[in-house]
Amino acid sequence: MITIKSPQEIESLRKAGKILTAIVRELKRSLKVGMTTAQIDERAGELMAAHRVVPAFKGYRGFPGVACVSVNQEVVHGIPGQRVVQEGDIVSIDVGVILDGFFSDTAFSVGLGRLAPRLAKLLEVTEQALYKGIAQARVEHHLSDISHAVQDFVESEHFSIVRDFVGHGIGRSLHEDPEIPNFGPPHQGPILKEGMVLAIEPMVNLGSWQTRILEDGWTVVTADGKPSAHFEHTVAITAQGPEILTA
Ligand code: MG
Repeated sequence: MITIKSPQEIESLRKAGKILTAIVRELKRSLKVGMTTAQIDERAGELMAAHRVVPAFKGYRGFPGVACVSVNQEVVHGIPGQRVVQEGDIVSIDVGVILDGFFSDTAFSVGLGRLAPRLAKLLEVTEQALYKGIAQARVEHHLSDISHAVQDFVESEHFSIVRDFVGHGIGRSLHEDPEIPNFGPPHQGPILKEGMVLAIEPMVNLGSWQTRILEDGWTVVTADGKPSAHFEHTVAITAQGPEILTA
């Protein structure tokens, strides 16, 4: 069941999103070549503590980190550890917070130092794909209009869209209905209504869309070992159109 949020609940989600946006801005500034992914995670944790919000991912189904930190061929759910990030790497960071019982979720990918042109293009297309999806998050559209817009754009740019992981509703829980695939035909699934809040999150691969999970039980990597990128926003559907709560 897709929950419809009241204006007061949207306001709470807006506050959580605003804080998460500030955390992301500061986290991006602190990223440097030579850091371990555990140090990135530690910084995310410090920022959340400073902003007095609770990390949403830590302990979620046993996840050990504050942030998911996924490098290069890692698509999502990378466990922070001793991997050192290098010049030319793509680093994808997914972070979520809880404020007064309300969740907010966002992700971004950045290139460290000088990035190969094809990788820079991958980041650009993935972020644009997110905005193509968000543009469809409108009252009376179908859920799959989001999915279709993302896939259509990504494939028109000759990249591939991950199928095995999807976006989700969000509110008083991190993962609520509906699941939001980033692929599929338009005009299907639930009709979007004012007060729905969605975490839209395309994951885009340089090579094929297939993925696999490493033996740690979390880290998702591309099956062909080629790089991947990930962008996500928490978005409220309003009468005036989509409102990005994490921008
Ligand atoms: Mg998410």
